[in-house]
Parts: sequence; structure tokens; C-alpha cells
Amino acid sequence: MNAARTFLLILLLAGFPACRRAAQPVVRDTAAMDTYVTITVYDDLPAARVNAAIDSAFVEIRRIEGFASDYIDTSEIGRVNLMSGRDSLVISSELADLLRRSFAYGDSSGGAFDVTVGPLELLWNILAVRPRVPSPDSVHDALRLVGYRLVSLHGRTLYLPRKGMRLDLGAIGKGYAVDRAMDVLAGAGVTMAIVDMGGNLAVRWPGSRGWDSTVATISVRHPRTEGAFLGTFRYGSGGVSTSGDYERYFIAGGKRYHHIMDPATAPGVVSVTVVAPTAADADAISTTVFVLGRAKGMEFMQRTPGVDGFIVYEQGDSLGIDFSPGFRGRLR
Ligand code: ADP
Ligand code: MG
Repeated sequence: MNAARTFLLILLLAGFPACRRAAQPVVRDTAAMDTYVTITVYDDLPAARVNAAIDSAFVEIRRIEGFASDYIDTSEIGRVNLMSGRDSLVISSELADLLRRSFAYGDSSGGAFDVTVGPLELLWNILAVRPRVPSPDSVHDALRLVGYRLVSLHGRTLYLPRKGMRLDLGAIGKGYAVDRAMDVLAGAGVTMAIVDMGGNLAVRWPGSRGWDSTVATISVRHPRTEGAFLGTFRYGSGGVSTSGDYERYFIAGGKRYHHIMDPATAPGVVSVTVVAPTAADADAISTTVFVLGRAKGMEFMQRTPGVDGFIVYEQGDSLGIDFSPGFRGRLR
């Protein structure tokens, strides 16, 4: 658990008089998937029922962590990675589906989103006590092991053909987990809730979808000034995610090296905030747009239905922001 890692987004819920809300929302948090999860339930239900629902949602998140984490050798992903270059493995249909969804993002982003970046992540080891810039030769060697098109997935049979290949669901797993946690809450009768895992949010509110009925006020942290906010915006049921260069990074020779890997670096982007129909989509898309950079990233958001966002970039000593058309005028 990295204690330095705090929320990218902080949520405050604005009033919504048409709904029957509890006088006091139930807020609980826990640590999971190398970050913090906060569940807030606003329904006016007996506390015991809400707490039981939140317990089940936490269990669901741990279940997903248990199969999707690459840092747990005994998880499904961990076992797949250990078998790279050796043998195929039959995986669960849930993991197969999540991988197919990830590969589809690889296809639609022209390879910018790539869940086989694992060897690059290991090499950079951003969170090491003394991280170092790896040699060009070692980067070159790691890149030989990166490329989701190399992966063979037929039904539930998965094979990573090169020894050292590693799947890494770091850019979609948290979003997927908060979607599933929200499903569990919904199954327990919760209708008004927010699940926030390290800046990946699933929002559920009756009768609202995306921008049409904006109920949650979402504060976006300033990517360069600790404790400050870039602004707030309002959004209804769906997913919200921010990817940035300011949570997991180190600086060497005046240059910032961070945890989002790009085989063909698009420089200058500082953070990307995205809203989408689900949290898994928002998670994957915020990373994708970050990698694609300003021009291609904006174009990607515009051609993806139900998606809006903004890109924060460095301009000399200050920051600039590009908004997708649907987001214009909404960040205050
Ligand atoms: P965070 O995990 O900080 O919320 P992201 O959702 O942007 O941020 O995910 C970054 C993580 O995704 C990295 O730590 C790594 O595990 C993985 N990753 C890095 N680069 C890529 C990429 N180009 N495509 C897919 N996944 C990536
Ligand atoms: Mg992401």
C-alpha cells in the first residue's frame, strides 16, 4: 500500500430534493488494489442493511483484486504471467471478457491502450525507493515483450508467447471493480451511491444518466498544486476517471517519468479526466487519451459515444486545458 497515494478526485454530493435521501449518508472506506476505496450510500434505508450491502461490495472488490492483480503471483493474471513463453492456461470467462474488452481498446486506440505494458512497468519501477531511468537497451528489450496482438486468446485459453510477457490491467481493473461493486450495491436495493477507488468513480442516481441529470458534484484535484482544486463539475449516473502524471512518478534530470507507458511518447499531457457510461470505460479511456496526447486524444473522445473529457497540458510554466465539446462550460 502506497501511503502517498491519495484520491485524484474528491466527491461531494449536491442536494437533489426529488429523492428520499438519508439524513446522513453512510460513508465507509477500505484499502484495496493498491489504493483506497470509498463507498458512500445516500439511500434512506436501515443502517444495518446499508452496511451489509457495503460489506458485500467490498468483498466483490477483493474478489476482482484476487484474479486481476498482476502483483499477486497466485491471482489468475499472476499465474498467466508466470506461464509466459511456457504454456497456455484456461482462464475464467470473466477475465477473458475483461481482456477482450481491453484488446478492443487497443484496437480502437491504434495500440495506445495496451494491457501488455507489464514489462515496461517493471523496468521503470516508478515506485522503487530509488527509481532510475532505464538504459535504452533495456527499454528496447522490454518493448519486444509488449504488444497485445501477440497474445493468443481463444475462448478461455490464453497464451503469452514470449517469456517475460506480462499482462497488466492497471488501467482498467479499478474502473471494472467499481462497476461491479456498484452492481452489488444495486442488487441490495441501493439506488443512490458513489463508489470511488483512487479516482475511478461509479455514480448511481435514480433517473439520471450522464449529463442529463447532473447530481454529483465532482472536484478535480489540481495536478501540480497539492491541496488545490482545478475545478468542479456535475455529473449523473455513469463513470468518471482521471489519469495523471502526478501520483506515481519520479523526476530525473529535470524530466518527469510516470507510470503511464507509451511506446511512442506523446509529450506534455499532465492529466486527463473523462466521463463515460461505465467506470471501466472511463478508466480505460482516461489512460488511452493520456497516451494519445492532445490532438489524437481529443479526437478519440469525440468519436467514442457517451464520452466527454478534458486534457490538462503544460504550457511553459503554466497549465492549459482542452475540453471536448460536451464538457465546455461545465468545469467551474
Ligand atoms: P491509475 O492507476 O493511477 O488510476 P491509470 O488508470 O491511467 O491510472 O492506469 C495506469 C496504469 O495502467 C499503470 O500503472 C499500468 O499498470 C497501466 N498502464 C500504463 N500504461 C498503459 C497503457 N499504455 N495501456 C494500458 N495500460 C497501461
Ligand atoms: Mg485508466
